[in-house]
Amino acid sequence: MIEQQIKTAIRDIHDFPKPGIIFKDITPILKDPGLCTRINDAFLEKIKDMQIDAVAGVESRGFLFGLSLATKLGVPFIPVRKAGKLPHTVNQKVYELEYGTATIEIHTDAFKPGDRILIHDDLLATGGTVTATSELIQDMGGIVAGFSFVVGLSFLNGIEKIAPISNNIIVLAD
Ligand code: AMP
Repeated sequence: MIEQQIKTAIRDIHDFPKPGIIFKDITPILKDPGLCTRINDAFLEKIKDMQIDAVAGVESRGFLFGLSLATKLGVPFIPVRKAGKLPHTVNQKVYELEYGTATIEIHTDAFKPGDRILIHDDLLATGGTVTATSELIQDMGGIVAGFSFVVGLSFLNGIEKIAPISNNIIVLAD
């Protein structure tokens, strides 16, 4: 039911940001507070046994439900940002893209070693971004408790890529 509501709300934008890409626009979800509440509730139900100490949200759309989940759980939110955006001292990870590389950063004091962290993003595509996020969190002594996404592009096999890191993978609409 929630899956169908998400699929109905999401808008496909063809050739954005470049030709050949079908961009999944989640902004219609954000216009519907009832649907946002149901999405939060669906995540909370599925993560309730994961013993999460913090939620890491991937810039930028991972901040949207990531922060509300952390707040509802009563745990800290960790912003995972592109290079040069976080103001305090950071740890960083460079990872491969189809063409070139990208860098993500987390504040050095964002969490404690041994903390169990849920990694959240709006959309799972290839899984490259959340894999890099997992590696950075593990380099800093954290434990990846699981992953959560509003939507997944199953034809890109992101789940296969991240399953070795944690089997707790929540995708509300696939
Ligand atoms: P990936 O690292 O390939 O899993 O890409 C995930 C990131 O890219 C997420 O932060 C998504 O928001 C964004 N992204 C990738 N593909 C799309 C798409 N078709 N529509 C919307 N966002 C996308």
